[in-house]
Amino acid sequence: MEMKLTHKKIKEICGIVSYKKGDSFYRSNKVTFQEYGSELCEATVSGKEDFHVTIEKGEDGDIQMTCSCPTLANFHKSCQHIAAVLLSIYDRKRQGPPLLSVQTDSAAFGELTKDIISLFQEKSTQTSGQQRYFEKREVLTARFTIKPVLIGTNQLLLGMEVEIGKTKVRSIREFLEQVKQGKPSVGIYDPSIHCFCEETDAVIQQLIRIIHDEKAFLEAMPFDKNQTLLIPPSSWEDLIPLFLKSPIHFADA
Ligand SMILES: [Zn+2]
Repeated sequence: MEMKLTHKKIKEICGIVSYKKGDSFYRSNKVTFQEYGSELCEATVSGKEDFHVTIEKGEDGDIQMTCSCPTLANFHKSCQHIAAVLLSIYDRKRQGPPLLSVQTDSAAFGELTKDIISLFQEKSTQTSGQQRYFEKREVLTARFTIKPVLIGTNQLLLGMEVEIGKTKVRSIREFLEQVKQGKPSVGIYDPSIHCFCEETDAVIQQLIRIIHDEKAFLEAMPFDKNQTLLIPPSSWEDLIPLFLKSPIHFADA
């Protein structure tokens, strides 16, 4: 969600026209950094003519963005070259530690500055869902299987098992916890190189919520707790609409 907000911010800063042009500059690798540091970023955006963009943290913590192109002087929004560099920084930052470290407690900051600062401070924790832009990670497929689980001698409930790619998830709670925290799950999933499509991620996020509901619900129930997540009846209402979009399978007990 936050990623989309960030793109929205770049659009607000640069305007939609510059944003779109900047996006295409960025995608066709027109941005070259000469300087990429915590206080200063300098980059050249090459085209028919090369333009030089500087994004700099000022002494008062304010952020200055300049471009050598003539467009900038004519519009109150930033130009397409600044858009291209911001998009480029944004994408790099998702793969590395936070870039500019700035303080946000100054009341003197204007809205624009705050927006840019929030861009730099965007958490770099990787989400499990596929991003709409610049997604370079492999999209993993998931197979969700609903299975009746016999509780004690005469009570039957429904449980869920998950397969990621071709790998059966042996420890489903641990796996979901790892996805939630943006950590890799050995041999199954690594958020730096893998993601899930939107529909699959929606189910996974719902299952993550279920682990917590489930705890109280079945602490004492005897069944194979490792690879089966028991779905409390109250959770079905949320899950069913998700399964209309994501494939689901049924298995015998
Ligand atoms: Zn420019």
